[in-house]
Amino acid sequence: MALIAIYVDAYPFKLHRLFGEEFLKRFALARIRPILGYTDCFKACLLTCKDPFSLGYWVFYKFRSQALRRRSLDLPLRLFDIPIIPFRVLRFAMSKIIYPVYNIPLCALGFLDFLDINPHMSLLEIHKTFKVKGFSTILSIFEDKGISYMTIEDRFFHHKILKMMKVTYKRVKERRIDFAFIYIDEPDYWGHRYGVDSGRYHELMRALTLILKDFISDCIKAGHNIIVFSDHGMASVRRYLDLMNRLLRDRSFCKSYVVGLDATMIRIKYLNERGFHESRWLAKLLNSYAHKLDEKDYELYRLPRDESYGDEVWLLKEGVCIFPNYFSWLRPRGMHAYDPLLPSQEGILLMEKGIAEAVNVKEPIEPWILGRLLLKATLGEV
Ligand SMILES: [Zn+2]
Repeated sequence: MALIAIYVDAYPFKLHRLFGEEFLKRFALARIRPILGYTDCFKACLLTCKDPFSLGYWVFYKFRSQALRRRSLDLPLRLFDIPIIPFRVLRFAMSKIIYPVYNIPLCALGFLDFLDINPHMSLLEIHKTFKVKGFSTILSIFEDKGISYMTIEDRFFHHKILKMMKVTYKRVKERRIDFAFIYIDEPDYWGHRYGVDSGRYHELMRALTLILKDFISDCIKAGHNIIVFSDHGMASVRRYLDLMNRLLRDRSFCKSYVVGLDATMIRIKYLNERGFHESRWLAKLLNSYAHKLDEKDYELYRLPRDESYGDEVWLLKEGVCIFPNYFSWLRPRGMHAYDPLLPSQEGILLMEKGIAEAVNVKEPIEPWILGRLLLKATLGEV
């Protein structure tokens, strides 16, 4: 008998009705409170059972106050940042090849410090990275306790979810596995690509839910336990803010300050004492679309107090999105990583009622709490 955890990226809580009343009866249904940040941070907190503050990890790149390059490179790099099509295409290709991002101005690259974890890594790779650094993860605890586990992700199957579910079912049946960790990444792409109000998105989510229901029913019949969860929901984008071109026109950008454009967060790092004043035009502009994170926000969302993530961090209001940004290659119609308290941002948790009672599920369920729930449900320690 195995515990089968199905992690569906970006399954919004508000779509839980797609499972149908009859099906939901045997499950405890709860809301997941997302992280203020992106999937890499959610996975890091889930696997280590630690919040970003205790982990010291928030976004996969930080800032350096000294550039990592020679001054003689300044001019040629600036050339690629000229906003004409051939240079934009080259810049896009260069940043994509060199770093796990899509569209970083080359003048800013030298100031960015990429961490060992990034959004393109598998759960197993993130686990191994933490293990090397001396952190324990739920998977290393399983290894220590002799619990056999498997991880499987739809990206290994070119996002053919049905095929992956069949393979998983076969493996769980044939081998002795105590914990199966399934990660389905594709719905996040559907939400960004089509937007949560589109017919196409709803059609795809209905089809996915049917696959999940069939798989879950088969597993329960075979005596396995099931947990389904997602990391966040999704909201429609109504307004795009182009900060990239404004930044590239500003002569102080990358001289006295540098900026991270993370789709819903704008992180400003001062490079010298002029940085604050010379970035005020940006702060003034952001005032109508975003709010600057204050002490209370850092406390509430347990964010690391580390200035190398930015001297100022601005969070956009729901429905506003920066584009171009450093993460997206297409203009997104749906977006997450807004204020985690917004209903649109809530993820879903479905747990069989017996397990939910045994592990004592209580909202709000944040990723580090979810990690502990997975541990308890697998080890049977309450
Ligand atoms: Zn996403």
